[in-house]
Amino acid sequence: MTDGVAKMAAPRARPAYRRIMLKISGEALMGPQQYGLHPPTVDRLAEDVKAIHDLGIEICLVIGGGNIFRGLQGAAQGMERTTADYMGMLATVMNALAVQSALEAKDVFTRVISAIPMDQVCEPYIRRRAVRHLEKGRVCIFAAGTGNPYFTTDTAATLRASEMSCEAIFKGTQVDGVYDSDPKLNPDARRYERISYDDVLARNLKVMDAAAIALARDNGLPIIVFSLNEPNGLAGVVQGKGRFTVVEPG
Ligand code: UDP
Repeated sequence: MTDGVAKMAAPRARPAYRRIMLKISGEALMGPQQYGLHPPTVDRLAEDVKAIHDLGIEICLVIGGGNIFRGLQGAAQGMERTTADYMGMLATVMNALAVQSALEAKDVFTRVISAIPMDQVCEPYIRRRAVRHLEKGRVCIFAAGTGNPYFTTDTAATLRASEMSCEAIFKGTQVDGVYDSDPKLNPDARRYERISYDDVLARNLKVMDAAAIALARDNGLPIIVFSLNEPNGLAGVVQGKGRFTVVEPG
């Protein structure tokens, strides 16, 4: 004690969220490449995830598989659609393992949890077990999408976010929010600060596929669209700083 005044520790800013879902497309792991995994890019993503983990936020992660294989492309080349979709789901498992490896190299404990059981590789999905991992501070990486063909990892992210009682879905993209047209093609494109699920669906805006938007709407899950290209962007956005769009009830 000094001068009769008790020194109090400076209050730590409380994160705005307790538990979130982060959805990253497979393409976000390609870096400058046209295909596959770019280790420095995977490492940067792991750094971003660690930064929000350090804030004390419980993190669910869903990573797509489009950098390796997409079911629709396989089907377009004559492959049976469901087989092609299973290949896409397997691609998400590879991405999940790559991100797990990058996170654990930074001392962030993780579990890869697959919708399709493959016990030698990762855990099967058991909801209560996944919740326990989150409570213990482990990052849960949900792989193999929903486990069903004809779905996407956006829908998987929304489904798992609902099951895990996440407060919001953070969708990392190449641009800093939702625009009324592609800002890379139209310099006059207008960015929304907020937009309703119904407007996203009615205007066919490319946020997530329609099934994922409808599921988020029906479960009242806000979707926060932000850019993965801003350094420390995710840590800012989870604290309400920076540029992003919130998709929420109208
Ligand atoms: N997929 C699927 N069911 C799911 C999730 C994914 O069949 O529940 C397949 C589908 O073929 C998809 C591929 O996995 O094209 C990769 O997922 P997605 O396209 O969502 O990846 P992203 O675009 O996010 O990289």
